[in-house]
Amino acid sequence: MKTLIFLIAIFSTLHSVEPKLWSKHIAKLTDEEKNVILNKGTQRTFTGKYTNMSEDGVYTCKLCGTPLYTSSDKFQSHCGWPSFDDAIKGAVKKIPDKDGMRTEIVCAKCGGHLGHVFAGEGYTPKNTRYCVNSISLNFQKSIPKTIIAKAYFAGGCFWGVEHYMERLNGVKKVTSGFMGGRLQNPSYIDVVCRNTGHIETVEVVYDPSKISYTNLAKAFFEIHDPTQKNRQGSDVGEQYQSAVFVSSDNERKVIHSLLKQLKSNGFTPATKIFKADKFYKAEEYHQNYYAKKKSTPYCHGYVKRFDKPKDKLPLFKSFKFID
Ligand SMILES: [Zn+2]
Repeated sequence: MKTLIFLIAIFSTLHSVEPKLWSKHIAKLTDEEKNVILNKGTQRTFTGKYTNMSEDGVYTCKLCGTPLYTSSDKFQSHCGWPSFDDAIKGAVKKIPDKDGMRTEIVCAKCGGHLGHVFAGEGYTPKNTRYCVNSISLNFQKSIPKTIIAKAYFAGGCFWGVEHYMERLNGVKKVTSGFMGGRLQNPSYIDVVCRNTGHIETVEVVYDPSKISYTNLAKAFFEIHDPTQKNRQGSDVGEQYQSAVFVSSDNERKVIHSLLKQLKSNGFTPATKIFKADKFYKAEEYHQNYYAKKKSTPYCHGYVKRFDKPKDKLPLFKSFKFID
């Protein structure tokens, strides 16, 4: 009997907050916060302060402070609670409700109740909705680099680079925009017509625990043709040049090393390395262009360039990206 009680006690601590362990933190909660976080209550729909929040940052556990979700995983579901299609690796625990109807989510560290998770609704490609009570969360603007990182690549028309980069495992969000020029807040027409010095660039938000910067950069070199100078396919001009904007010495070393490997594989890369500068997001109609048009890129495709010598590669037209 004692063993059974012990097992029940252990089991229950895995699924909810252990009061003795978290007493100092619990003392700081309001009654409303306690009702949701400790007693698994639900905040009234459309009343939470993070439901429509769209700022860049990280959402942490109200009780223990652990980072749980990043803003790049947040989407508008119009359900009245903050919605995320992914959680920070290992931060959230899923527990099927006793009635088998729903799946509860709790903070993996303290067991604080967060909400429920739903699958198969089709809101985003990940097909998952973490429906979280705002009151279970805090928000901070700075995102630790160990949780998500940003990388910047330019490889011709940003529509195609965005299309392929966002299909990589570990990539959370890709945004089309401009970098490297003189004009502030450039429009697409400015970049095409006004010699601004900007290059069509994508901002890649990724989870370093799932994909390394090296593999991200390798993929970049394999979904555009880095040997083309100041152009990519039919898009001609400096704004379409192949370039990597690096944010650290480590990133610079990685790109140097990959360019060296490309050369030893028989390629002559034209890719330039620049120091990362301010990124300007392009107009909304440029974002997720191919998904909106339900078509595929005309000037980008996937080809392995790191493991095989050049003469054994298939022709560019036959390249197909492997999802
Ligand atoms: Zn927690």
